[in-house]
Amino acid sequence: MNRRRYDADLIVVGAGPAGLATALHAARAGLAVTLFEQRSGPVDKACGEGIMPAGVRRLHALGVRPPGMPLAGIDYLDLAGRRAQARFTYGTGMGVRRTDLHLALRTEAQEAGMHSEQTRITEVSQDCESVSVHGLRARWLVAADGLHSPIRRQLALPTRAGSPRRFGLRRHWRVAPWSNRVEVTWGPHAEAYVTPVSHDLVGVAFLYCPDALPHGAQSLGTYAALLAGFPELNRRLARAAPASAVRGAGPLRQTTSCRTSGRVLLVGDAAGYEDALTGEGISLALAQAEAAVDALVMDRPAHYEESWRRLTRRYRLMTRTLVTATTVPLARSLLVPVCSALPAAFRAGVAQLSH
Ligand SMILES: Cc1cc2nc3c(=O)[nH]c(=O)nc-3n(C[C@H](O)[C@H](O)[C@H](O)COP(=O)(O)OP(=O)(O)OC[C@H]3O[C@@H](n4cnc5c(N)ncnc54)[C@H](O)[C@@H]3O)c2cc1C
Repeated sequence: MNRRRYDADLIVVGAGPAGLATALHAARAGLAVTLFEQRSGPVDKACGEGIMPAGVRRLHALGVRPPGMPLAGIDYLDLAGRRAQARFTYGTGMGVRRTDLHLALRTEAQEAGMHSEQTRITEVSQDCESVSVHGLRARWLVAADGLHSPIRRQLALPTRAGSPRRFGLRRHWRVAPWSNRVEVTWGPHAEAYVTPVSHDLVGVAFLYCPDALPHGAQSLGTYAALLAGFPELNRRLARAAPASAVRGAGPLRQTTSCRTSGRVLLVGDAAGYEDALTGEGISLALAQAEAAVDALVMDRPAHYEESWRRLTRRYRLMTRTLVTATTVPLARSLLVPVCSALPAAFRAGVAQLSH
């Protein structure tokens, strides 16, 4: 690079896992990186906070070791008390507070030379040689600005919010974890995801379609109404104090037909997202970050599109199939009984999350 012509090789927008991992890979590859994040401090987010084994391996390969709780596998439960259990076949997952993940990634990225600023990016302009934001000119820009990516919108990349329109809500509870696996309870209108994140803290997230909630649920406050629909979980949390505010996100399914526009690459949720059902968003964000930097180092941005399709193919298919199938009430009610009756099939599904 002729550094006199550019202020940076790479501008990254967004300090979620996708943006920070991109900045870290790029800085370690010798690129001059500036990252813009609109929020201050360790960034929190509505998230189940279960990192699948593949994501944990990627973090470790980067030398990033956030504090958290090891996760041995995933259990599916239903309201009748049935349970299907599966251990991860290759490695362990981890429950990690998003703020801790942010700090761990940011520390490594800063040590590698990343420069960062707290600024909300509102405008991107580019020509055939460079891309500019906030008075800075760079060779490339990675938009890692999340599910509703303002940069994707500004570049008019065709985006569709798919159906069903699912949303997520999460809150933490001060209580000792009662399991070393992610517990997913399938209710008729929502799923509850319980993830241990420290020795005295669990995250409880719900995924749901607002249209499918029983009449009057909103009057109680949606999180409380959702929790009330899971009596066993409600009982476990009865004496626990809430340890964070309720945070939400959605609609979750956002698809876009391409992930590059000139000198801009979309990474993480900004690149398109299906659903949080399989808990793979962070792992995929880390994989995409590496692929995007590889493509930029080779000066072949188009290569990133191919990598993105390959890296996300199984996730898109598996998640889409499960989300669509479980909109049908009968299929939804049969899911846990079938998984517990066919443990090998359930284990094979969960094994996919290890690789
Ligand atoms: C309820 C729920 C549960 C989930 N559970 C899990 C789970 O258990 N495991 C898992 O792996 N994934 C889970 N996910 C998905 C996971 O949270 C996301 O896939 C992940 O956060 C994607 O990371 P990202 O860096 O792409 O985006 P984000 O984490 O959303 O980060 C985007 C960043 O960009 C910043 N930004 C946006 N616009 C601008 C701007 N204009 N200027 C500057 N900065 C900007 C934002 O402030 C934010 O910090 C869950 C999601 C939800 C909603």
